[in-house]
Amino acid sequence: MYNSKCAPSTLAGREKMIMAGGRQHNLDAGWRFDNTYGGLPEAFYARLDPVPVRSPKLVVFNTALAQSLGLRPDMLDGDEGAAVFSGNKIPEGAAPLAQAYAGHQFGSFTMLGDGRAILLGEQAAPNGERFDVQYKGSGRTPFSRNGDGRAALGPMMREYIISEAMHALGIPTTRCLAVVTTGETVFRETVLAGAILTRTARSHIRVGTFEYALARGKSSEIRALADYTIRRHFPDSAAEENPYPALLEAVMERQASLTAHWQMVGFIHGVMNTDNMSICGETIDYGPCAFMDAYDPNTVFSSIDHNGRYAYGRQPQIAQWNLARFAETLLPLIHKDPQDAVSMASEAIKRFPDTFHYHWITGMRAKLGLFNQEPDDSALAEDLLDCMHRHGADFINTFRDLSSGSLPESAFFQTMDFQQWFARWRARLKRQPDSRDASLRLMRSRNPAVVPRNHLVEEALEAVVERADYSVMEKLLGFLSQPYQDPPEQAGCHLPAPPSAQPYQTFCGT
Ligand code: AMP
Ligand code: MG
Repeated sequence: MYNSKCAPSTLAGREKMIMAGGRQHNLDAGWRFDNTYGGLPEAFYARLDPVPVRSPKLVVFNTALAQSLGLRPDMLDGDEGAAVFSGNKIPEGAAPLAQAYAGHQFGSFTMLGDGRAILLGEQAAPNGERFDVQYKGSGRTPFSRNGDGRAALGPMMREYIISEAMHALGIPTTRCLAVVTTGETVFRETVLAGAILTRTARSHIRVGTFEYALARGKSSEIRALADYTIRRHFPDSAAEENPYPALLEAVMERQASLTAHWQMVGFIHGVMNTDNMSICGETIDYGPCAFMDAYDPNTVFSSIDHNGRYAYGRQPQIAQWNLARFAETLLPLIHKDPQDAVSMASEAIKRFPDTFHYHWITGMRAKLGLFNQEPDDSALAEDLLDCMHRHGADFINTFRDLSSGSLPESAFFQTMDFQQWFARWRARLKRQPDSRDASLRLMRSRNPAVVPRNHLVEEALEAVVERADYSVMEKLLGFLSQPYQDPPEQAGCHLPAPPSAQPYQTFCGT
């Protein structure tokens, strides 16, 4: 059994207990694991199994995602699913490990690692793609520091809801395959129900994984990680004479595109530390993230982000800052002369604002129904946002209303400010050959009607956590799965938060 040769000496006692239990899940549920991460130098991970839990119960299972991964939902429901998605049983072919990484957290460098996560391996999906399958909340690891290695039900369900919403919005994201409750409690400010979430991702390679390699100071390890990343995510870069500047460019492209996607829907990640930036450009780590209601670039929800480092309007700058940290790790690979390496990397990083702006204006043109390009389009988009900011207009609903073809008689749309902008926009629409209907269709496909508004997410979580009632969440997930369709008026899920739900705060204590 693979476990016996994988048990790290630091956890030998616990491993013996685990192995005695016969933990392999070998019903043919469709698991097809490859374990390439374990081929990296040993410093990049610690091999260990998840810590078993007392009485797991499967509370959410993402059937559509399971099927797309080639898994058989009928083999993964009930007690069997509970055993597998709690880590009490390990799927055949998995080679569990906790990944090592570092990160700049609010600007300060720290050594980190999976303190409460275990990577099972990479599932080969029927479409030829591969996805990491990772438990989150699965017990202590050598990287847990003072943490308990566990997670609470509320935050895991929050990650489930918001990541599914992001996926339906068409934004690259990690996803959730299942959530189990553990039958154990976790201690935060109060006693909470414990849970484990199974997360899928194109990979869990972070900017912080590269920073970890740099901090260890072994160039062979940085090169191994960079080569692995190129093989896994950016095979085109391998064909370049020097693949490493190409890797930097490719990562920049993904990060710029991702950040622009966030801006289009008012998503505030909330904790864009470098350890929470996935190299392949997926949204990862749904901690204190939230969606903006009234448009205000200074919006911050996280209770610990006192200086607004991760405010909505700063996300592009922070993505650039994080990318600079990534570039630093590649310097010796970019050029053997340190000065040449620095100037090549700096030139690349300086292009980030233009790369971001390209994605931003492409997205904004679609949000405004524009097919062709005019030099003043950025000013047109920015002037609308400024006008919304001055009047506290709702971000999502303003764009959706503009997409409807007939504006509602709200106070905002009556303002002189808006009317002047509206006249400019209408004149601009006439300067393209496409029909008004084509514009409205484009707009309705880019301006969502439903996003996981904070008060709706809270309502759904309260029902789950306080009353074990999953129906509110299921209904919400139904609307979120079709964000570009107007929900029935009476559903109310398109309405901004009532004043009683403001101001909204999110917490990292997940
Ligand atoms: P995050 O804020 O989720 O990005 O996590 C930052 C670091 O703290 C990562 O190394 C996590 O693995 C670790 N961490 C978060 N929560 C816990 C926990 N309950 N127990 C152990 N480590 C944790
Ligand atoms: Mg994290």
